[in-house]
Amino acid sequence: MGDHRVTTDGGAAQGGRLISIRNPSTGEVVGVCPAATVADLEAAVAAAKAAFASWSATSPAERQAACVAIAETLERHAEELAQLLTREQGKPLNGLGSRFEVGGAAAWARYNASIDLPVKMVRDDAEGRIAIHRKPVGVVGSITPWNWPLMIAVWHVVPALRAGNTVVIKPSPLTPLSTLRLVELLNQVLPPGVLTCVVGGDEIGPLLVAHRDVAKLVFTGSTSTGRKVMAGAAEGLKRLTLELGGNDAAIVLPDVDPSAIAEGLFWGAFVNNGQTCAALKRLYVHDDIYEAVCAALVAYAATVKTGDGLSEDNVLGPVQNAMQFAKVRDMVDQARARGARILVGGTPQGEGLFFPVTLIADAAEGMDIVDLEQFGPALPILRYRDIEDAIARANGLDFGLGGSIWTADLALGRALAARLECGTAWINKHGALRPDTPFGGVKSSGIGVEFGPQGLEEYTTIQVVHE
Ligand code: NAD
Repeated sequence: MGDHRVTTDGGAAQGGRLISIRNPSTGEVVGVCPAATVADLEAAVAAAKAAFASWSATSPAERQAACVAIAETLERHAEELAQLLTREQGKPLNGLGSRFEVGGAAAWARYNASIDLPVKMVRDDAEGRIAIHRKPVGVVGSITPWNWPLMIAVWHVVPALRAGNTVVIKPSPLTPLSTLRLVELLNQVLPPGVLTCVVGGDEIGPLLVAHRDVAKLVFTGSTSTGRKVMAGAAEGLKRLTLELGGNDAAIVLPDVDPSAIAEGLFWGAFVNNGQTCAALKRLYVHDDIYEAVCAALVAYAATVKTGDGLSEDNVLGPVQNAMQFAKVRDMVDQARARGARILVGGTPQGEGLFFPVTLIADAAEGMDIVDLEQFGPALPILRYRDIEDAIARANGLDFGLGGSIWTADLALGRALAARLECGTAWINKHGALRPDTPFGGVKSSGIGVEFGPQGLEEYTTIQVVHE
């Protein structure tokens, strides 16, 4: 068990009550860390505010070098961070698990070293000169969830720093250890105060949101908490990036080979045990191939090993926490009670937070597992006959993060993808993200984007110099 009494700005965190973090695979305590007090929060924001003057004055080249140093630090400590992540989050080391997450975080950091915020000229002639500059915002408050804690921390922190801001990050109290270690390591390559961390939950989050010296918030989490963040930020008119919940639909057309797409559909849905914002959460399959797609998914699911994340064999682990476990169990029970067919899984065996991979046929709108975000290893499979009906049902919810079309006809796939009401539409894949491509939600799935030059610009304000 580790004592993660680390900080903030390289100094010692005082902290309040100790939070114990448990391994979801075993229930064992894997570390303790102090919950931030109001005084800790004030110290962190003050450090970030003080550091802003000099950090924002560094050159783009210096900040690009810092992104490279961050990537190298992640790579040097990759195995240590992956082990810690598995122990606190539950995800396996292998598959799309902890090693993948740490590798992705390093790749995102390196990408941010490669992009620029160039001055754009509106005019520069005998009549005058008008230049558009991108300036850092100030202190950024980052609030992260428990599903991809290290990757999302890097998604927030690195572009914010690259643009010249300083950051106070608040990880989920369920998975703070990997972020605390990350911040500790990054403080070895960053000046003091540039990146600080406060741990806590419902009590400290709103204080960070409302803090007078925090100029922008980047929040990844549920839609309901996102609304509270937006309300809390209103008084200070703070800039916001909100990456919220999703309930992505995939539509499978009758022209596909079910066995050829089963693996892609499966991992689209079950990546990180379904605890992924842009996971496939509702699968609409044409009536003609409905049973064949169900059978191909069942066959693929039988090849997937679930168990303790620290075992090298497993590619899926437990659900991260008891609240989420109960939510998924209740949704599956309700679907079963309303006549859905459980093709595989459905009933947890034994103690602990292991919920089996669950495929639910004959699911329908009106069931919570279809209408709400399950965020766990259970996929409802719905039937359709008419593509217009499928598109209307896919767009029928207030979510709009991702969506996908599966077809052999790429022209038709593109036309249908354009009609999905979501920030990212995939064709014959689901959930692929890249550091150079903007990602964000529409409707209740978010405001703004991350990644790419567009994501970097969200950490800036525009200043026009007109002469
Ligand atoms: P959550 O909303 O419960 O918590 C997210 C963070 O907000 C945590 O750090 C939490 O402590 C903090 N928080 C709680 N109450 C707060 C308040 N009043 N003010 C400020 N902060 C507060 O979300 P979660 O359960 O940790 O994560 C799962 C959710 O995140 C899912 O809905 C998932 O879809 C979403 N998510 C979205 C994306 C995306 O990019 N769109 C990515 C990952 C996860």
